[in-house]
Amino acid sequence: MAAHDPVEHKYVYDFAEGNKDLKDLLGGKGANLAEMTNLGLPVPPGFTITTEACKAYLTTGREPDGLAAQIEAHLESLEREMGRRLGDPDDPLLVSVRSGAKFSMPGMMETVLNVGLNDRSVVGLSNQAGGNDRFAWDSYRRLIQMFGKTVCEVPGEEFEHALDEIKRAKGTHNDLDLDADDLRGLVDAYKQIFAKHTGREFPQEPREQLDLAIRAVFDSWNAERAVLYRRQERIPADLGTAVNVVTMVFGNLGPDSGTGVAFTRDPGSGAQGIYGDYLANAQGEDVVAGIRNTVPLQELEQLDKTSYDQLLGIMARLEEHYKDLCDIEFTIERGKLWMLQTRVGKRTAAAAFVIAGQLVDEGLIDLDEALHRVNGAQLAQLMFPRFQLDHEFEPVAKGIGASPGAASGKVVFTSARAVELAAEGESVILVRRETNPDDLNGMIAAQGILTSRGGKTSHAAVVARGMGKTCVSGADELEVNVPAKKFTVGDHVVNEGDVVSIDGTTGKVYLGEVPVMPSEVVQYFEGELDPETIDDALVRAVHRIMTHADAARRLRVRTNADTGADAARARRFGAEGIGLCRTEHMFLGDRRELVERLILASGEREREDALAALLPLQRADFIEIFREMDGLPVTVRLIDPPLHEFLPPLEQLAVNVAVAQERGEDVAKEEALLAAVRRMHEENPMLGLRGVRLGLVIPGLFAMQVRAIAEAAVAVVRDGGTACPEIMVPLVGAVQELETVRAEAERIIAEVVGDSGVEVLIGTMIEVPRAALTAGQIAEAAEFFSFGTNDLTQMGWGFSRDDVEGAFFWRYLELGIFGISPFESIDTDGVGRLIRIAAEEGRAARPGLKLGVCGEHGGDPDSVHFFHEVGLDYVSCSPFRVPVARLEAGRAAITTTGSDSR
Ligand code: PEP
Ligand code: MG
Repeated sequence: MAAHDPVEHKYVYDFAEGNKDLKDLLGGKGANLAEMTNLGLPVPPGFTITTEACKAYLTTGREPDGLAAQIEAHLESLEREMGRRLGDPDDPLLVSVRSGAKFSMPGMMETVLNVGLNDRSVVGLSNQAGGNDRFAWDSYRRLIQMFGKTVCEVPGEEFEHALDEIKRAKGTHNDLDLDADDLRGLVDAYKQIFAKHTGREFPQEPREQLDLAIRAVFDSWNAERAVLYRRQERIPADLGTAVNVVTMVFGNLGPDSGTGVAFTRDPGSGAQGIYGDYLANAQGEDVVAGIRNTVPLQELEQLDKTSYDQLLGIMARLEEHYKDLCDIEFTIERGKLWMLQTRVGKRTAAAAFVIAGQLVDEGLIDLDEALHRVNGAQLAQLMFPRFQLDHEFEPVAKGIGASPGAASGKVVFTSARAVELAAEGESVILVRRETNPDDLNGMIAAQGILTSRGGKTSHAAVVARGMGKTCVSGADELEVNVPAKKFTVGDHVVNEGDVVSIDGTTGKVYLGEVPVMPSEVVQYFEGELDPETIDDALVRAVHRIMTHADAARRLRVRTNADTGADAARARRFGAEGIGLCRTEHMFLGDRRELVERLILASGEREREDALAALLPLQRADFIEIFREMDGLPVTVRLIDPPLHEFLPPLEQLAVNVAVAQERGEDVAKEEALLAAVRRMHEENPMLGLRGVRLGLVIPGLFAMQVRAIAEAAVAVVRDGGTACPEIMVPLVGAVQELETVRAEAERIIAEVVGDSGVEVLIGTMIEVPRAALTAGQIAEAAEFFSFGTNDLTQMGWGFSRDDVEGAFFWRYLELGIFGISPFESIDTDGVGRLIRIAAEEGRAARPGLKLGVCGEHGGDPDSVHFFHEVGLDYVSCSPFRVPVARLEAGRAAITTTGSDSR
C-alpha cells in the first residue's frame, strides 16, 4: 500500500472475526459472543463496535472518522445474512444494542432492545410472528420506553405510570392481561411522553435509532453509577465499553419460547450439577424485573426436551473449552435455542477453591493454573467465622472492617470486666473509644473488639488482626461512655451486659445475637481435620492448592508473634520462623510498673533494680518462644514503645495531684511523678523517644534485653533444642545508632554464649526513610534488614498511622488519590521505591544480606507480589495471615501477571 494511503482504523468486528482473547478491544460480552460463534454454537448474528471507538468518542465528543461507514457495511452484511432489512415494513430485521466492557459491570451500563421498530415495521413484525399483534405492539412499546429512558433521558416513572394507568383502567395487575389494542394505546401514550420531554417525535428512521442507541451506550460508560462501581471494584476508568449490535431473538412469542440463565456448576459451593432458572414466554428483562417467578432449569426438560438436551450439550462444551465455570444467558424462540451470552462466571471464595480442584481432577487444568485461579483474599474470607445470615438483620452502625470475622457477645467496657465475664464462660465484645496496650488482656478474653475511633492500623486493629480476632474500629456513630458503662447509637442505649454482634469484614454492628459458624478451613490449618480422609471438597481443595503453593514459592513466610501461643499457632499455620517479636508487648500488665520505674528512675540504683527484676521475666519469655520455634529463626526486636504508652496520662495525673493537694494530702511522691511525666511529655510521641533512641537514652535497657535473648538461647540449646535468635534494632535512621548498639550487644553475646554454639545475628528495621536512603552504610553494621512498612508508610507519606484512615482517607479514596489505603497495600511507587533502593544498596554493600518485611503489608496479597518481585527473602505477618501469604507467594512465583483473578 502506498505511504499516502491512509490505513483505515478497524472499529467494527463481525462476531466471526473476534475471539475470547480480545476482551480489551471487544469487551467481555463481544469477545465471548465471537468465541461461541466460532465454536459453531447458535449465536444470533451481529457485530461489535470496539472499545477504541468508544474511547475516541468519549475523548473528542464525536464518533471517530470511518465508524459510520463501517457500521453501515456490517449492517448490510448482517441484513444479507438474515435476509431481512433493518426496520423493513414487511419483514423487519430488529437488533439489540448492548454494552459490554472488558470487566463485567452488571446493570451499570445501557442496553436498548427492538431497535428497528416503527409505526410501519410493527405490522411486519406481527406478520413474522404469525399475526401476533399483541407481541408486536408490546415489543414496540418496550422500544419506546427503553429508548426514551436510555437515549433521551425521559424519566422512567412516566412510562411506568402510563402502564399502571392502563392496567388500572382494565382492572388488572398483570401485564399479560393487556391485549393488542391496550398495547397499541400504550404506544400512543408513550409517544406523547417522549414528545413532551424531548420536543420531537419518536424517531421512525431505523438507522437513526441505531446510531443514537450506540451513542447512548458509549455515554453510559461515564454515568454516575458506572463511575462509582468502577471505583469500588478498582476497574480502570479509561477502558471504555464496546457495543454489541445483535439480531433480536424473542423469548416471548408463546409457550414454546422463553429465556433463562444457567451455570455449569454451582457458583455458591462449586458442586457439579445443573444450576439455573427458566421463564417461559418471556424476555430477559422480565426475569430481572421479577414480574413472574422463574422455574428451576431442570423443568425445561419437560417443557422442551430437545432444547434442554442441546443446552446441556453446549454447557458441557463451553466448560471444556473455557476450562472453567461458565455462566450463560439463553433464549428459546419457538423451540429454537439461541445463546445470548457466556462468560467465566463469578463465584464465592469456597467455590473458587472447589472448582479449581475439580478441574485439576478432570484433567482440564494443571496445578499452576489452579493456583492462579484462587487468591489470598478468598482464602482469608474462608478463614473467618461468619454470621449465618439466613434471617435479615439490620445494622445500627457501620465502622471500619478492621479485622475480619463475625462475633457476638455481651458488651463490656473495661479489660478487667472482659476477663471476668470470659472466665465465667461468657462471650464478650470489648467496646472502647480506642484501645491501648493495657487493654491487651481484655482483647484476648473478648470475642470481638469494637471501637468508636481509629483506622485500620489503630492499636485495636493491628492487635486484633494479630490475634485473628474480629474487630470493628472507628464506628463513629457510637457515643461510648466508659464510666457510665454504656454506649448510645441513634436512639438505642446499649448497657454493659447487652448483646451485640459485629462483622469485622463489613464493619457492620448489630444489636442482639446473630448466630456464628466456625471456619472448617481454620480447623484444617489447626490440624483438626485430616484432608486425606475428610469428605469435604473445600478442605481437600485448599490442602492441595496450598501444598502446590508451598512447592512453588521462593519467598519464605514468617510470623509476627510475641507469645508462645501465637508462635505455636503460626507454626501450625505454616510459619517458617518469627519475623517480628515485639518485645514491648511483654512489658504490659504486672510488668508495666517496673517499666514505669525504669523510665522515671532518678538514680542508677533504682534503674538497675528495675532492670534486674525484668531480666528473668524476659529470659523466660524468650525461652518459651524459642522452644515453640525450635530450629527456626526468631527475630526479636528490642523494645520500641511510644513512650506515652508506658506513662500515666499527664492530664489525669495533674488532676489527681491537684485534688489531693486541695484535700491537704501528702502528695510528694505523686508530684515527683508528675514532674517526671511533664519532663518526658511529647507532642509527637510517634516521632519521639522510641526505638533505638530509647535504647541509647536509658542505660542498660537494651543490654538487659540482649542478655535475656542470649541466655534464653543458650538455655534452649543446653536442653537439646535449637535456637536461632536474630536481634533487631528498631527505628534506626543512621548507621552510627546501630553501630553503638551493636558494639555493646556483641560484647554481651560473646560473654553469654561462650562455647554453647549459639549464633546470634544482629540486624535492623528499615522503617525511617533516611535508613532506606542510607541503606548502603547501614548494611555495613547489619546482617539483615526487615522493612517496617507501617512506619515507613507513616513517615514516607507523613500520615499519622493512628488517625488518618478514620479522619480523611474516605475523601482521598473518593477523589481517586489512591485506590486503597497505603497502610493496607504497599504504595509501590513511593514507599515501594524506598524499599527497592534499600534492598539494592544494602545488598550491594553486603552481598547475601537477608531481607524481609514485618509491617502489616507482609500479609497483604498485592504487597506480597511486590515483595516477591523486589527479591526479598521473606515476609512476616500475623499468624492468621500466614496461609494467605504462603498462597500469594506461590501465586507470585508462578505468574508474572499479578493477582488479577477478578
Ligand atoms: C512497622 O513499623 O512496620 C513495624 C513493624 O513496627 P511497629 O508496627 O511495631 O511500629
Ligand atoms: Mg515500626
